[in-house]
Amino acid sequence: MADELRLADVDGSGFRREIQLKNLSNLMQKRLISLQNPRHCASARKLQCYINKSCGFGCQLHHVAYCLIFAYATERTLILEGNGQTWDYSRKGWTAAFLPVSDTCLDNGTEEAKFWNSLEESKNHPVISLPVIDELRNGPSFLPQSIPKDLAADLLRLHGYPPAWFVGHFVDYLMRSSPQMKKMLSIAENKVNFAKGPIVGLQVRRTDKIGSEAAFHDVEEYMVWADHWFAVQSLKQGKQLRKRVFVATDEPAVITEIKERYKEYDVIANSNSAILANLQDRYTESSLFGVVADIRLLSNCNYLVCTFSSQICRLAYELMQVRRGDAAASFHSLDDIYYFGGQQAREQEAILSHSPINEDEIELQVGDIIVIAGNHWNGMSKGRNKRTNREGLYPSYKVKENWRIEKFPSYPNVKI
Ligand code: GDP
Repeated sequence: MADELRLADVDGSGFRREIQLKNLSNLMQKRLISLQNPRHCASARKLQCYINKSCGFGCQLHHVAYCLIFAYATERTLILEGNGQTWDYSRKGWTAAFLPVSDTCLDNGTEEAKFWNSLEESKNHPVISLPVIDELRNGPSFLPQSIPKDLAADLLRLHGYPPAWFVGHFVDYLMRSSPQMKKMLSIAENKVNFAKGPIVGLQVRRTDKIGSEAAFHDVEEYMVWADHWFAVQSLKQGKQLRKRVFVATDEPAVITEIKERYKEYDVIANSNSAILANLQDRYTESSLFGVVADIRLLSNCNYLVCTFSSQICRLAYELMQVRRGDAAASFHSLDDIYYFGGQQAREQEAILSHSPINEDEIELQVGDIIVIAGNHWNGMSKGRNKRTNREGLYPSYKVKENWRIEKFPSYPNVKI
């Protein structure tokens, strides 16, 4: 594995890919800035989206990201309703932690919003109001995990998992720090001291999630993967690396436990954020700053170990793609595969046939389309074969991803 990692270094291809992805990232950012700052706000087409979805921070951020993807796909400026007003996570609203979504166009003006119905019916209305993704009827094909046709060839050549890269750019735009957040982040970053050497990010989601939406995982299950990552990296670099982990969690006891059980590690945590995560009063900005800092710090780490059932970790993974280029493989999830809540079916295509060895497995013929439901991370995935309609396990290496490539606007006036 260490040799394989070295391959990208020997001929400089890793570096070249990084530069090319950076250029694409700049292009995406410019497109979003242009979309969100129309020259004539009054006449611009708009998409209105309510900021307060009743769920946790990660879920709300993904809700707004879905709205922004919708806005990008339909060339409408996103109007964040509740922008500047009280938000579940801050009395001061969205702008307590983030920059406004636009500098020039923040409300509907005199136009009345019309509820979304379908692409066809909504196309002539100047302002459309979007429901949450779970209530969206006639969901267009550009919803996650689609990637835009105009960038697809480059993305498939340069990145291991383009849908996460694409979503990451919307999340990154939305999470541009407010001046106060910037200060908090810089303090937190100094504490982690990324310049000191590589670091693995752990997100250990406990409290209300356990038993309802996810299973309990002992810290050992996470640390095995941190050990593994440092072993491979030490081999690759030909020297024993100092082992460091950054721990983000909603359960403060986790940090103490890792410090006590793993003395060979430098264990760094944003100490207050785990305590603040559990505050009943969601209106404290410090709880908001804590979770935002945790997500940003996780995304700056070299490798992530977490449960993808948590939106916090999926946000960090998405942002990691913007920061690091192709960090598609820089994670280990103890449960789910990567997904976007409310997404369209994620499909794979069989490239090798498979005859079931036991009754848990399904048959594959080359060309079969399988809707993947999960990965057991032991070489086997779980899904439903659309040809036979049978659900079960199949070897993960016998399929390839069937990317959803969709037509999005190509913003011809925006140049790198
Ligand atoms: P999910 O429930 O983990 O999928 O994510 P949500 O964002 O929907 O809800 C989780 C909530 O728990 C967040 O709003 C945070 O308040 C808190 N939380 C969960 N994990 C962390 C963490 O690693 N750090 C901090 N600071 N808060 C967390």
